[in-house]
Amino acid sequence: LFSAVEMAPRDPILGLNEAFNADTRPNKVNLGVGVYYNEEGRVPLLRAVAEAEKARLAAQAPRGYLPIDGIAAYDSLVQKLIFGEDSPLLAEGRVVTTQALGGTGALKVGADFLKRLLPDATVAISDPSWENHRALFESAGFPVKNYRYYAAASHGIDLPGLLEDLNALQPRSIVVLHACCHNPTGVDLDLADWEQVLEVIKARGHVPFLDIAYQGFGDSLEDDAAAVRLFADAGLPFLVSSSFSKSFSLYGERVGALSLVTDSREEATRVLSQVKRVIRTNYSNPPTHGATVVASVLSSPELRTLWEQELGEMRSRIQKMRLAMVEQLRTKGAVQEFGFVSAQRGMFSYSGLTTEQVDRLRTDFGVYAIGTGRICVAALNQHNLDHVTDAIVEVIKT
Ligand code: PMP
Repeated sequence: LFSAVEMAPRDPILGLNEAFNADTRPNKVNLGVGVYYNEEGRVPLLRAVAEAEKARLAAQAPRGYLPIDGIAAYDSLVQKLIFGEDSPLLAEGRVVTTQALGGTGALKVGADFLKRLLPDATVAISDPSWENHRALFESAGFPVKNYRYYAAASHGIDLPGLLEDLNALQPRSIVVLHACCHNPTGVDLDLADWEQVLEVIKARGHVPFLDIAYQGFGDSLEDDAAAVRLFADAGLPFLVSSSFSKSFSLYGERVGALSLVTDSREEATRVLSQVKRVIRTNYSNPPTHGATVVASVLSSPELRTLWEQELGEMRSRIQKMRLAMVEQLRTKGAVQEFGFVSAQRGMFSYSGLTTEQVDRLRTDFGVYAIGTGRICVAALNQHNLDHVTDAIVEVIKT
């Protein structure tokens, strides 16, 4: 049965982690990950999470099966966070939200459901995008194309290219959009850009699938949801995958959600019934722990305040690292200007380093980054920054 099974290609990021773990140099630094580390280089356990977990353990709650669409209170709290407390869509009962296994699980359930509705559709993702987007939609059976997004020369957006590519897609294509903190570039559309994207999407009848995995890491929870709110006001159907992996530092608990915006309460009921079938035949129902913790934090005024404060601390620590990196590179006489890094948002930066420079960073200095030049700014800290900037200054010398 298995004798002809070929070895799958190694996951580039996991492969990098293995090489990092095997590296014995004491000053090695892993900037290849997609995880927030604190000043001590650890994945933090947020105090709000620890408090909620303490209460949950004390309650000795039984672990029965959850409903197929997860914890109802969690689903409703997620909706408010994404669409806003006063969203008319929520008041009208037009949004369906189901708990999902992280943002990845939400994307896959959404993709499988869309495949039933639009079997001949094409999916379009940004160039570049989170490396799993393409594989995930292809595994759901869709052909996947790129739309132009990042303009390397300006470290900005290729807006004319983006609009042209969205216009050229067959009508009713599925367009995956990063709602904030674009992974891997750190470069986001501004509101005026979003309005133009929305116009093309409406004109072509495309189906937007907004992916929001970093809400709270850009400007604020509310500001980072601006694109979702713009689409919500536009009166078209769309999907949103959301994740608490980063914002709650709950990576391994797999806490996310899929939301679908429908035309009416009645349509929402039918849509939910079908999304539940997709979930039922995949994993039946989601796990209890992470979503219970998130729901307790979001519904407790004290814990919610604490969480928002901790999220704000993560956000400003990353911003501080961006500024410090740019400043150190400048004072150390780097032959290139890196000011653009401080304008990027979220955890990542497309640093502009070439594959050869990234290779030298690793072999000569033990600084691990992705071949595309993506670095995780959230893995920098006061202890490793000096070594990283020394290394960058060296490898960019001509
Ligand atoms: N979308 C994007 C853009 C991401 O960067 C990630 C995580 N790296 C995800 C979705 C998936 O999130 P999760 O870990 O919650 O599955």
